[in-house]
Amino acid sequence: MLEFEKYIREIEDFPKPGVHFKDIMPLLANSAATEKCLEHLLGMVSDLSIDKVVGIESRGFFFGMLLAQRLDAGFVPIRKPGKLPYTTLKEPYLLEYGMDALEIHEDAITTGERVLLHDDVLATGGTARAACNLIENLGGKIVQCNFLIELKPLNGNQKLKKYDVKSLLKY
Ligand code: 5GP
Repeated sequence: MLEFEKYIREIEDFPKPGVHFKDIMPLLANSAATEKCLEHLLGMVSDLSIDKVVGIESRGFFFGMLLAQRLDAGFVPIRKPGKLPYTTLKEPYLLEYGMDALEIHEDAITTGERVLLHDDVLATGGTARAACNLIENLGGKIVQCNFLIELKPLNGNQKLKKYDVKSLLKY
């Protein structure tokens, strides 16, 4: 067990019955634990030549921004529809029940830029896959998909087979 793992708590039946939600807020509330976690996330990045770190709304923003600073890269948010102010590209994706979509600013990544994708949790992989599509539609090259937590039984990595997928904690 990594020393900061105890700061990730499980919330039963959130946001709906049957879900065991991994809550990273106690981790973020502790500076030393956040720093340790960041060091480990950085340690998973084998290729340090990164132009942009892309974080997925909203919990992907926290460590995404910290990773970008440490990697001397720019930070790019991918957000839910209607949140980004400039012209966007949109990617719909399938949820367990129904559809959702993600958006990115059309000028956030330029062709050939080397991108690290980060999110807090990889579950079914639908969110991350939609984010990868947006990055690639802008001409970005995905160097790694980097997650704090992977929920193994949900097989999210199957949707990300063509990428280098690294997760720090696996449950
Ligand atoms: P997926 O599309 O892989 O099924 O879901 C991943 C997205 O849902 C991520 O953006 C992640 O933030 C959120 N998510 C799913 N399950 C959890 C969870 O247990 N804890 C947290 N913090 N986020 C989750």
